Amino acid sequence: MSRSRKPDWLAVQPPSGREFTEIKQTLREHDLNTVCEEANCPNLGECWSGRTDGSAGGDAGGTATFMLMGHKCTRSCGFCDVETGGGEPLDPDEPENVASAVAEIGLDYVVLTSVDRDDLPEQGAAHFAETIREIKRRHPGVLVEVLIPDFQGEPELVRKIIDAEPDVLAHNVETVERLQGKVRDPRAGYEQSLSVLEQASRESDIYTKTSIMLGHGEYDHEVYQTLADLREAEVDVVTLGQYLRPSREHLPVESYDHPDKYETWRRVAEEELDFLYCASGPMVRSSYKAGELFVDAVLR
Ligand code: SF4
Ligand code: SF4
Repeated sequence: MSRSRKPDWLAVQPPSGREFTEIKQTLREHDLNTVCEEANCPNLGECWSGRTDGSAGGDAGGTATFMLMGHKCTRSCGFCDVETGGGEPLDPDEPENVASAVAEIGLDYVVLTSVDRDDLPEQGAAHFAETIREIKRRHPGVLVEVLIPDFQGEPELVRKIIDAEPDVLAHNVETVERLQGKVRDPRAGYEQSLSVLEQASRESDIYTKTSIMLGHGEYDHEVYQTLADLREAEVDVVTLGQYLRPSREHLPVESYDHPDKYETWRRVAEEELDFLYCASGPMVRSSYKAGELFVDAVLR
């Protein structure tokens, strides 16, 4: 890792264009949140500007990540820009509203995630599962990727998500084992996250996926060990990306790795450790071009 000022390769184009405006309007009409906006994701312009099949928007990802169960999280992770809170009731219309927005935006690959709602019965697992089912019921051809909370490691809650049959089940381990306490909320943890992924891998045919941020002070051997642990848990897909500090209230960036280093990690993951595929680059996020990469790797 190299310690320096923010390098040029992290320059971001601000979002603009007709599709960006239309998607934003559709989301507001249905009272929906996206992690793209809530987390100030640097890829927003690129992800929202296209379709997974490359139509009507060039070759961009065509991906928007819906954030379920409100926009306040009961947890507080040092890297995350989502507001801390909780206590709001769930919107019972949300599953239907998301399914309607999917059709209106014309998505063929949907990513659903949520804030953590440790305050709710079943931590919101049934509501999350219902949203998957509603999309599948109304749009059988749409592929659904879910990025789920750890549900405090409760297997019966993870099982509710598995039973709703998403196409990809993701849960982020976020960082190497040593840095979990520094980076994530104390209720999260390395073993707990691995157990969620392992359960989904072993109890279903659903593809499993996780993400690692670089830039929190991890060493190469720790990143390698994390990748090896994930393979041991039979995780299929991994993404690696640079941590960017959302504000001065968040954890500082400890290092910036060159794009060549990300390419090295991609090769290690795919060629040595046999992940199905690995998206790796400074701007890569869990859902970056999720549909495009999944379709390329699995369906073509
Ligand atoms: Fe949204 Fe994910 Fe794309 Fe970021 S990478 S804009 S969160 S879909
Ligand atoms: Fe952000 Fe952490 Fe909440 Fe996830 S669990 S939304 S990373 S604060």
